[in-house]
Amino acid sequence: MELSELYQERSFGNIADFGPKISFEIFPPKGNDISSLYEELRLLKRFEPVLISLTYGANGGANRFSIEDMKSIRDLEFNLMPHFTCVSSLKNEVEEHITAVENLGIENILALRGDIPDYIKREELDFEYANELVEFIKEKTTLSIGVAGYPQTHPESKNAHEDIKNLKRKIDAGASAIFTQLFFDNDKYYHYVESVRKAGIEVPVIPGIMPIRSLSQVEKMISMTKVTFPKKLREKLEKYPDDAKKIGAEFCINQCQDLIEFGVPGLHYFILNHSDQISEILENIL
Ligand code: FAD
Repeated sequence: MELSELYQERSFGNIADFGPKISFEIFPPKGNDISSLYEELRLLKRFEPVLISLTYGANGGANRFSIEDMKSIRDLEFNLMPHFTCVSSLKNEVEEHITAVENLGIENILALRGDIPDYIKREELDFEYANELVEFIKEKTTLSIGVAGYPQTHPESKNAHEDIKNLKRKIDAGASAIFTQLFFDNDKYYHYVESVRKAGIEVPVIPGIMPIRSLSQVEKMISMTKVTFPKKLREKLEKYPDDAKKIGAEFCINQCQDLIEFGVPGLHYFILNHSDQISEILENIL
């Protein structure tokens, strides 16, 4: 099902139709561990995720799901949203990739610029910003397109106003949903949604949530973003490192309950390829 349809309305019925739509983001495991990832996904099926999103070379790495992997995950009967970053690709390579995705019967894609490595000269890029990629995908395929949004602004942006102006370029180019960067302070998301609406953007803004598993894992994530981390939570994790997963789950349950009350269209979880902690969280909030 396409993004625009998926997040169109909140109805009531089974888990997937009740309240916010649940989605999970996964990354390609190192080595031959893909079968254990499939097992984790099978365990999450009972939460009826509306989407499984698949990262593409995230965190500066070159790790990607192949088209064959996408086929196998799709065959587990999940609706997929592979990510795609355009920054180091030529137009013909992008066209080849998005056509292959579309030919698998996948309907959605998350269109990203990606982080620009130091060695790349901007003037040599076929695509400099994600809005150019959105326009290209729209022209070449019928894929439904999601884009990234930053409640605490993208690290390269001068200010929030500029960042939202650039977000609008992606929506005007044809994107139909925004998936946000993780955040730990819901007010940042609420304020962001308000600014996005003021800018005339009407598409769903799906919050990105990362359940904490350890302090070092959070530190790695926030060092790459402008995301702030609550002092009290940090202190608790420092004091009780062995209970990090439990502390993370409790924080996440509270965070999600508040988001649900606000009326979010969906909850997009960065699950780091694990089913245990997110299962506990969802059992508490659904
Ligand atoms: P853009 O939308 O192009 O924005 C990049 C910067 O340029 C921003 O500061 C923006 O304000 C500015 N800008 C945008 N358009 C213009 C314009 N036309 N003119 C001037 N300035 C402009 N990275 C990966 O490598 N793989 C992944 O799988 C991945 N998944 C992600 C999933 C989510 C939900 C999120 C939030 C991020 C993800 N990222 C991923 C990270 C992302 O690639 C980086 O944050 C990257 O630096 C920016 O990508 P973007 O698509 O947001 O870029």
